[in-house]
Amino acid sequence: MTSHLGKEGRVAAVLPVHNPRALLRAHGFLPVEVWGPPGHAITSGDVHLQVYTCSVVRHALAFISDGGLLGRADCVVVPHACDSLQGLGSVLLDFTKPDLPVLPYYLPRGQRASDRRFLAAELRALAGRLAEISGETASDEDLHAACDREEEADAVLAKLLSRRAALEIDNRHFYELARSREYLPAEAFIKQAETVLAAAGKDPGAPDLPVLLSGLMPEPMSILDALDAAGATVVADDLACLGRRLYQPSQAKDPYLRMAEGLLSGAPDSTRGVSIEARAEHLIRLAKDRGARGLIFFLVKFCEPEQFYLPQLQKRFKGENLRSMMVEVHIGETLPDQVITRLEAFLETLT
Ligand code: SF4
Repeated sequence: MTSHLGKEGRVAAVLPVHNPRALLRAHGFLPVEVWGPPGHAITSGDVHLQVYTCSVVRHALAFISDGGLLGRADCVVVPHACDSLQGLGSVLLDFTKPDLPVLPYYLPRGQRASDRRFLAAELRALAGRLAEISGETASDEDLHAACDREEEADAVLAKLLSRRAALEIDNRHFYELARSREYLPAEAFIKQAETVLAAAGKDPGAPDLPVLLSGLMPEPMSILDALDAAGATVVADDLACLGRRLYQPSQAKDPYLRMAEGLLSGAPDSTRGVSIEARAEHLIRLAKDRGARGLIFFLVKFCEPEQFYLPQLQKRFKGENLRSMMVEVHIGETLPDQVITRLEAFLETLT
């Protein structure tokens, strides 16, 4: 595992959603994403949070406050993906003060040139903090080399998603592979994914029950087992942890602008405050292009950014004759039987 770590074996724990991977790698940190984690008890964090805070933030606060990152990470990066994560950053900095640097950064909510310049400046400031911790500065050449590597990994991830039907693996194994992008270095991810792609057969055509999966992340991952058991295949992905992070390559000469343009180039994402129309159009196109018969919104309870969009999105899908369903869960809970029953009933309507 040592070869997977940053130059000096440093690790940056990164909270959802948009991870400045190239910047971290260029400074000798291996970015490892922390989506919760779902398995950690939440009690110790709850004292600082309102009861209607989502379980991603509740688990993360408890995990970090209980020393879950000590000896494992050298800093924690908190992107401002939503008010809850911004609140988490403040609680860590002002109250619980974990024994490692907490590095917040703000993502703009627009796509204008000024938004890209703003994000480039945020990344430059973050680079300064990383250099203080590591004692290493990254040259423009280092940054461009890191961007090249991440762009290649994003292209391989896009290929995995587009060739999903030809990969002879079930939903659970597909997501375990695709989500290894959350913690493997780009080069290790590329190698692993290319091995699976090389073994793929010819495109067998549409699976029996193709669906689109949206939401933040497939946690608990037993949702994937439930889909497997019902014979459904996720052929289109709009999860924040995956399909919304298929960043486009940027040609910008300034490496900070290049990273900023990349991070703002993903599919329309609730945590970047895109318009309802942009999300609706993207989802309808994605579902139709991939032949998905139904859309499943697998949401984290109390996730305001996602909930804001859903009523309008579902109206639009009805107009397009696309069936959709919404399920809300806490990430650390066992998938309730009631959810499995609802899912099975929904899938039956698609056959
Ligand atoms: S689940 Fe929603 S509310 Fe919670 S951290 Fe993620 S985006 Fe924010």
